Parts: sequence; structure tokens; C-alpha cells
Amino acid sequence: MTEFDFIRLYLQRQQQDSELVLGIGDDAAIIRPRSGYDLHFSTDMLVGGTHFFSDVAPADLAHKVLAVNLSDMAAMGARPRWALLSVALPELNKDWLTAFCDALFTLAARFGVTLIGGDTTKGNWVFNVNIIGETPYQQALRRDAAQAGDDIWVSGLLGLAAAALDRHWNKVTLPATVFAQCEERRLRPEPRVALGQELLSLAHAAQDISDGLAQDIGHILKASKVGAEINADLIPTLTALAQQPGLTPAQLRHWLLAGGDDYELVFTAAPAQREAIIAAAERTHTPVTRIGVITTGTQLHLHDHAGNVIQLQQQGFDHFG
Ligand code: ADP
Ligand code: MG
Repeated sequence: MTEFDFIRLYLQRQQQDSELVLGIGDDAAIIRPRSGYDLHFSTDMLVGGTHFFSDVAPADLAHKVLAVNLSDMAAMGARPRWALLSVALPELNKDWLTAFCDALFTLAARFGVTLIGGDTTKGNWVFNVNIIGETPYQQALRRDAAQAGDDIWVSGLLGLAAAALDRHWNKVTLPATVFAQCEERRLRPEPRVALGQELLSLAHAAQDISDGLAQDIGHILKASKVGAEINADLIPTLTALAQQPGLTPAQLRHWLLAGGDDYELVFTAAPAQREAIIAAAERTHTPVTRIGVITTGTQLHLHDHAGNVIQLQQQGFDHFG
């Protein structure tokens, strides 16, 4: 198979839409944005050995590379619309590419995303998606809009992907059923796109959790020039994981606060919005939990139910740390 067979047979599957003037096949795609909307651009890359193991299933890899980009759109309350995919692959293997593309287009269709271009080259396992989304004019959820007095919420369950990774490194033992649930999260994160869009009118600031809650909420605090108080015992996780015999509280906290890869949302909103947020969470079938408050000041304070202060060894993941 040549590069051009790959593009024509595997990638040119989708239809044009009213704003997509020209898709895959020319030197560049053309989008004619509708008025009244702001466009969002983001890119996220997965590198073999750094972000995935070499034996990863092609369907899982395809899911993840698009899902992490969808998660960036979710974090801004944006509706994802178009994506570009750049790949470096050692060879063009038919079965591998079929599984990869099927999973990619399945997820793309589920979220209404059209693949409009990309690049294909021979090389050592790199997958990069550029994603384009939209929000109504000036409505985006930004990191710099948290206000003192806001509640802090998170979606879903945290710490599962990090627990699965530690199991891979043999740092912990987990029962097969617990590991399977954690591994599912690590491999196939569910981007919270529907919730993000509902939050446009309800939340002040939002961010997705890719590198650990403590580090990621730190970006909101810094951008908004505020502090936060979080009760770590309120952070939602898988009950069976938290109740693992032999698991130390420090290990669990590390997963919840510094573990990455869950791709849940952390967001802040006025207390007056509590009922509306719970209703939005129900409409979008996305559980949400209130874990703390935004404060004046600039620090993140973590404590447990009893009020004991929690010090973290490490706030989150740093690619160069
Ligand atoms: P160029 O030589 O101008 O870079 P290419 O020959 O690389 O163009 O690509 C031809 C068309 O196929 C372009 O529209 C490009 O966007 C698209 N394309 C190439 N690789 C991919 C890919 N991995 N995913 C989606 N579209 C791709
Ligand atoms: Mg090219």
C-alpha cells in the first residue's frame, strides 16, 4: 500500500458539511466559519514509548488520540467540529490501519467530528491530532475566569488511569476486575464534551484533568489569580479501588491528586448554580462531585475530612520532570 492508497481508501470517508468547503485531497482544507461563533484550535500528540506501549491495540490508540483532543474541546465548552491527523508509522499495515481507522471514525462520528486533513510519513510511532471546535461568540470556558467563593467540581472518577499504570509497572497489585475498570479508563477515556457545552452558561472556569488534579487546577488558580481549598476525601474514585486491602492512603491520594490521564473536567461555578449543574450532569449522564471552594489568595490547600493538612510529594506529571 502507498501513502496515497492509505489516504484515499482509509481516510477519505466522510462527507462535506455546510461550513466545510473543501476536505481531504487538496493542499489544505477550507472552512467557512459561521458568524456568531468563536473557533477553538488545539493539538495533542501521542508518542510511542512516552504515551503508549508498543503493543497497544490500534483501536485503543485511535480512540485515545482523538479522545484527548475532544477533551480539550470539552474543557472549553466547545463543540468539536473538525480534526486533522498526522501520523508517523514504521509501515502501512492493512489490518492495523483498518482497526485504527474504524475506531477513529467511530469516535469521530459519535462526536460529530469530520477529518479534514493531516499528514502521513514513515517514522517511529507518533500520532498527532489537531482539533477545531466552536463556541457561541465570547462564551468559552476559560482558565482565567474562576472567582473567589466558587464551588470546585470534578466530573466522573479520578485516579483510575494512574492506578492502571502503576499496575503495569508492578508497583501495586490489583484484582482483575478492578484492574480491568482502571485499564478501560486509561485506554479509552470518555471526553466530557456534552457536559462541557452545558457548562457554558453555568460555570466560570474549566480545565480537563490530563496531568493530575492538583497540577491542573493549579493552572486555573494561576490564570484566575485565586486560591483553593479542596477536601481530598471528597474526590470521587472507584470504590473498589479505594477499598483495596493493603493500599496506603498516600498511594491513593497520589493517584487522585497527581495521577494523570483520566480526562475528566474540573470546573468552578457560583454556589447559586448547584441545582442547575446537577441537572446538567443528569441530562448528559455525567456524574459530578463538589470537592472544594475557590478562595482569595493564590495557594492550593488540601485537607482531609478531619481537617488535617495534606502535603503532596508531587503535583502531577511533567514530561521533562
Ligand atoms: P501535501 O503533499 O500537500 O502535504 P499530502 O499528499 O501529504 O499533501 O496529502 C494529501 C491529502 O491527504 C491532504 O489533503 C492531506 O490533508 C490528506 N492527508 C494526508 N495524510 C493524512 C492523514 N493522516 N489524515 C488525514 N488526512 C491526511
Ligand atoms: Mg504531506
